[in-house]
Amino acid sequence: MRRWRPRSLFDACLRKGIFQLSKGDDLKHTIDRAQFDFMTMASNPGLETAYDPYRMSKDYCSILSTSLTYLSKIILLKLHYPAVVPLNSTTEWEFSCFADDSGQLHRWVIVSDWSDSDLPGEMHNWRTMGDLVVSRCPMMLHIFSVGRVVGGRPTTPWCRGYRHPAMPGLRTRFKRTTGKEFDGWHTVWLSEISHSAEEWVDLMIRDKVTDELVRHITVNVPSDTICEDVIKQITSEAMAMKEIGDWRDMPMSRNSCDGYFPCPYQNVCYAEKLVDIEGMGLYKKRSTVQVHKG
Ligand code: SF4
Repeated sequence: MRRWRPRSLFDACLRKGIFQLSKGDDLKHTIDRAQFDFMTMASNPGLETAYDPYRMSKDYCSILSTSLTYLSKIILLKLHYPAVVPLNSTTEWEFSCFADDSGQLHRWVIVSDWSDSDLPGEMHNWRTMGDLVVSRCPMMLHIFSVGRVVGGRPTTPWCRGYRHPAMPGLRTRFKRTTGKEFDGWHTVWLSEISHSAEEWVDLMIRDKVTDELVRHITVNVPSDTICEDVIKQITSEAMAMKEIGDWRDMPMSRNSCDGYFPCPYQNVCYAEKLVDIEGMGLYKKRSTVQVHKG
């Protein structure tokens, strides 16, 4: 896609920021860089959204500042990209996660929200299982919840809090000790008030919301039999891909066209006739897009 989906751009900037922090880069410099990257790409080529892109960008920049500030407070190991592993004479596996110096793998899974029932899907997918069986090293999944977008704004304590309607001078709150909702309280947005990210995160920690938003789950390596079987499946998929001549001969993946959100390639796949993809102005070749892994 030529224009970015806001969450995809946010995820790319956050992952890059996490990697920079893990290399020991200065926090302020890392946040400035992440926000600069977001605002630059949000301005050109732009965001794919029906809402106010400037307000949405400011909210996502707030989340970048608070989330990176919080992560700088918890131990971040030094990370690197694992080397590519040859599986046979024609196939090699490129990792999509980070690794620390002990060899343990780390993947940052950025989600709108998370429940325990989401874990099997994350453990079984190719990106987790493939990296595990090829490396034979355990993986730490770092689940990072950033909330859903409602009315064009990300609704998450990383950028949104509440103030008491009768006593606005009291501190910003994120969770009430009684467990009740904030009915009647004033909503405050970090992008619209003068809190620093440091102050905001300290208040989040005080209300004990960060433990619900960031979780760390270890996934162990399966048995040797399972590992060998999965590697056989990978090489078999690679062979099948090699045998595909023209991609136009492949059947459409119709179950995926309207999944979590409408697939952005519907303009191509559901056109009346074959289209010149690059000529549409909506897409550009993948080789020219900068991809951040992890
Ligand atoms: S619209 Fe998307 S999911 Fe559906 S066939 Fe095209 S590329 Fe695949």
